[in-house]
Amino acid sequence: MKIAVNKAEVTKLKPADESALGFGKILTDHMFMMEYEKGKGWFEPRVQPYQKLSMDPASMVLHYGQEIFEGLKAYHAANGDVLLFRPQENAKRFNRSAGRMCMPPVEEELFTEALRTLVDIERDWVPKSAGTSLYLRPTMIASEVGLNVHASNTYLFYIICSPSGALYPRGLAPIRIYVEDQYIRAVKGGTGFAKTGGNYASSLKAAEEAAAKGCEQVLWLDGVERKYVEEVGSMNMMFLLDGKLCTAALDGSILPGITRDSIITLAKDMGIPVEERNIAIAELMEAGKNGKLQEAFGAGTAAVVSPVGELTYKGESVTINQGKIGALTQKLYDTLVGIQYGAQADKHGWTVKV
Ligand SMILES: *Cc1c(COP(=O)(O)O)cnc(C)c1O
Repeated sequence: MKIAVNKAEVTKLKPADESALGFGKILTDHMFMMEYEKGKGWFEPRVQPYQKLSMDPASMVLHYGQEIFEGLKAYHAANGDVLLFRPQENAKRFNRSAGRMCMPPVEEELFTEALRTLVDIERDWVPKSAGTSLYLRPTMIASEVGLNVHASNTYLFYIICSPSGALYPRGLAPIRIYVEDQYIRAVKGGTGFAKTGGNYASSLKAAEEAAAKGCEQVLWLDGVERKYVEEVGSMNMMFLLDGKLCTAALDGSILPGITRDSIITLAKDMGIPVEERNIAIAELMEAGKNGKLQEAFGAGTAAVVSPVGELTYKGESVTINQGKIGALTQKLYDTLVGIQYGAQADKHGWTVKV
């Protein structure tokens, strides 16, 4: 399918101060858009001026939450290239999410071509200072009008872009994590592996309560026994336990992060043993007390790697690596960021030039 391009006549002033970009607050001049109708498929793929959606208040997404999204970034390399990181993986995951939510797939080729066409047009919006990037948000919503519950027969697919600032202007600062033992995020058979808005809506309550207790993130336990660690807000969790890098196995309730997958590959390249398995919270707290929990960090596109300095579970806290970022965490961060910005050899062929 050919992507039409309709350029904006007036463009916004780009922020002069890249240190004040923040995350997701500024939207660019253009967006990608296409529509879907059952029987007809996807049609009129196009890049158009960024604009408001006009929707009927009875549109199904607004009532029953049939919605999925993706998140990835475009990076400005030192040689002037603009790079995407493993966008095919976002396309694949988007279609797995679509399958779970009874939504139509978007051909992988079209998904990645849409990203490339849009980013090419918004090239000047990709910020250049260290650690900054252009965040990309592909989204699909159910647009059929009606209050009867069923899978919508019409959808919108769009991509919007937002220049985002360096996450760690002062270096990687370890965060405090609250291990949630009341609320749950997902269960096997549910929608945990899908990137769908509802998973986030239901997580807000625990996040607010954790924030009130002085913790930046919630670590979710499994929904059945509340015994095994799953993931945090929008990051998968990694633990360096007695020399082995351990992370929860993908069992249906965990979001299969592309950062998670990349970190596992990089750690194996470095000769670090990696274990994908059930990790009991009791095991972690015990390891925290006897010194075997050497490092812990979250992994996700937004923050890349987020070191964890403290875990609090049922009123008890353990400090990890004296509340400082660990050596392996720092090395994995540097390596991954180096590849993403084209500063380090990309031997797995992960980056895609726009
Ligand atoms: C997006 C997301 C992640 C991280 O995935 P990446 O592909 O690494 O960005 C982890 N957990 C949840 C719940 C997410 O939505």
